[in-house]
Amino acid sequence: MLLLNPGPVTLTEYVRNSLLQPDLCHRESEFFDLQDEIKKRILAIYELDPAQWAAILITGSGTAAVESMLAGLVPETGRLLIVENGVYGERIAQISAQYGIMYKRIVGDWMQGLNLDVITSELDSTLKDQRFSHLAVVHHETTTGRLNDLPSLSKLCCERGVKLLVDAVSSFGAEQLNFSDESLIGIAATANKCLHAVPGVSFVVVRRTAICQATSRTYYLDLKRLIHLQDQRDTPFTPAIHAYYSLAAALCELEEQGGRRTRYQNYSALSEQVLIGMKALGIEPVVPISQSSVVLRAYHLPTGLTYAKLHDALKAEGFVIYAGQRDLSKTLFRISTMGDLNSADIDRLLKGVAKVINELKIY
Ligand SMILES: *Cc1c(COP(=O)(O)O)cnc(C)c1O
Repeated sequence: MLLLNPGPVTLTEYVRNSLLQPDLCHRESEFFDLQDEIKKRILAIYELDPAQWAAILITGSGTAAVESMLAGLVPETGRLLIVENGVYGERIAQISAQYGIMYKRIVGDWMQGLNLDVITSELDSTLKDQRFSHLAVVHHETTTGRLNDLPSLSKLCCERGVKLLVDAVSSFGAEQLNFSDESLIGIAATANKCLHAVPGVSFVVVRRTAICQATSRTYYLDLKRLIHLQDQRDTPFTPAIHAYYSLAAALCELEEQGGRRTRYQNYSALSEQVLIGMKALGIEPVVPISQSSVVLRAYHLPTGLTYAKLHDALKAEGFVIYAGQRDLSKTLFRISTMGDLNSADIDRLLKGVAKVINELKIY
C-alpha cells in the first residue's frame, strides 16, 4: 500500500529496517549520542548554526511541537496575532485559548491567501494595549495545500519588531524557509512528514536568544526544560526510542539523497506529474499552482463522484488518498507526494483515477 496522505508516509526499506536496532535505555550514553546526532542533523538541513539555533526533540506528534512552541515562546505579557486560513491555523488558536495566551485571530477564507492589508493594519494598531509581540502562522496549510506567504509576513514582523512563530509541520525538510529572517524565533515540525521517518517524534527549532524569554505553561511540553536538559545530554522523560532510530536513519538518507533542495525537486516533479495527469482527466487543482506547495495538492472532486467512491477504488489499486477536512470532504480530495514514491507509482495512480472516471461515464 502506498500512502498519499500527508503523513505518516511510505517508508523506505532503509528507514523501516532502522527500527530493528538493539534495545536501548534512554539513560545510557548510546541514547544521548543518538539524540545529539538527530539534533545536529535537523539543524544541518537548513545549514543552521548550533550556537544560534537549537532543535528541541519532543516525543509526540506534530501538534505536540506546535503546542510546545506556543506555550513556551509567547511570554506571559506577550500578545499573539494568529493569522489563519485552514484547520491548522485554527488549531493554533485553540491551543492558545487552552493555555490562556492573550491572542487575536485574523480568520481568512480557507480558499484564499492571507490578507496582508488586514494583518498590517492589526500590527499597526496604535492602541497601546493592542500591540502584538508575536505572530503565529502555518507555513504550508495542509487543509488546502496552500503555501502561505512567509516572506511578506516576516517582512511585516521585522519592520515592527514582532516575533514570528511558524507551524512548518508539513513543509520542514522540503520547502524553503528563511532562517536569516530576524523576526523568526521558532518553527515546529515533525519526523513523519517531509523527513520520511515514523510518527512519534516532533521538534521545535528555536532561536537560542528567545529562550531567556520563554515561559513554562506546560509540564510535559515545557520547551525551557527540554532545551536545558537536551543541551546537557539529558532527557526528562522516556523518549520514543524506536522513532528516534528511524528519524536518525531518515535524516542520513535525506543527506545522502542530496538534502532539502533535492527533496524539493523530487516532490516538485511528482506533484507536477500528478497535476498534468489530473488535468488530462478534467480534474482541476483547488489552489493556483503559484500559491501551492510541492508537498500536497488538493483537487476538485469530479461531479458525480464522491470521495468515498474514489478512495475505495484507489485503495483497491494500492493507494491511500486523503479526504478534505470538514465540509471540504464533499468537494475536494488531496494527494501528497511525500514519502518513498517514484514516477512509476504516480503513473499507476493516474491510471487508477482514469479507470474510475471512465466507469462514471458508462453509467
Ligand atoms: C500534520 C500537521 C500538523 C500536526 O498533526 P499531527 O497529527 O499532530 O502530527 C500540524 N500542522 C500542520 C500544518 C500539519 O500538516
